[in-house]
Amino acid sequence: MLPPDNHVHSQWSWDALAGSMERTCLRAVELGLSSVAFTEHADFTAWTLRPGEKVPEEWRSLLAEGVLNPPSFDLDGYRSCLESCRERYPGLRILSGVELSEPHWHAFPVGILLGAGGFERVLASVHSAPTADGSGFTEVSARYDDQPPADVVRAYLAETVRLIEQFDAFEVLAHIDYPVRYWPADGKPYYPYDFEEEYRHVLRSLAATGKVLEVNTRVPLHPQVLAWWRQEGGQAISFASDAHDPAALARGFRDAVQVAEVSGFRQGRDPHAFWRRS
Ligand SMILES: [Zn+2]
Ligand SMILES: [Zn+2]
Repeated sequence: MLPPDNHVHSQWSWDALAGSMERTCLRAVELGLSSVAFTEHADFTAWTLRPGEKVPEEWRSLLAEGVLNPPSFDLDGYRSCLESCRERYPGLRILSGVELSEPHWHAFPVGILLGAGGFERVLASVHSAPTADGSGFTEVSARYDDQPPADVVRAYLAETVRLIEQFDAFEVLAHIDYPVRYWPADGKPYYPYDFEEEYRHVLRSLAATGKVLEVNTRVPLHPQVLAWWRQEGGQAISFASDAHDPAALARGFRDAVQVAEVSGFRQGRDPHAFWRRS
C-alpha cells in the first residue's frame, strides 16, 4: 500500500485552478490510498511581479499596482466541503490541513488561523524571497532572474532555518528543495553536495525540534538529503505529492518509497502514521 499523501491542494487553495477535493478523494480511492490530507495554502506574503509578468485571469482581482495579494483562506467553505467528502468516502481517512507560507513573518494572522482551524496536518513552507532591491517580496523562482542559482538556494535554506528557529506551531517542514523545481536548465546542473553544509544546518535545526521532514515528489528529493536527515538525527518523514489537481495525487510515490527505504526509513504498524527511521 502507498503511504498517506500528506500534502494535497484542492479548489480551496487559491493557486489550484484545476483543484477538486471531491475528485481527489475519488482518485485516492482508485489508487487505494489509506489517507489524504488537504493542506490548503494560507499565504500572507504579497508578491511584487516582474515587469510585464502576466498572471491568470482568475488572479486579476488580487493585483494592485504590480503586487499580487494572496486572498484569505475560506475556512468555512473548506470545512463544509471536507465534511461532505468524509461522508461520501467513509473508507478513506481525510485529514484537514494547512500549508503556511513564511509563518515566522506573519505570526499574528497565522495564530488566529491555527486557533480557528484545528488542523490535523500543519505544514510550514518558504515560497518567498526579498526582491533584489529589498523593497518587497517575490516568489522564490523569480530570483533566478537576477541572482546566481547557488545564491538563490543558499538564501532559501537560510530562510528555512529562520522559520524553524522562529516559529514552532507546525509539524512538517514542506519541500526543503523547493528552489530546485525552478533551477535554470542552462548552465551548471544542480548538485546537492554543493549545499551540504546548508542542508545539514536546516536538517539539524529541524531534528532538534522533533518535527518531520517532507519527501515532496514534485521533483524527486535527492537520496543524499534523506541520508543527511538520518545522520542529523531526523526521526520521521512525510510523503507529499503537493498535487494541485486530482491527477497528480501520490505521483512519484513508488520511487519515493524505495528511496526512503534505502535511506533507512520504514512504515510503522499504523499505515496512517509518518514513516519512522528503522
Ligand atoms: Zn509549497
Ligand atoms: Zn503545497
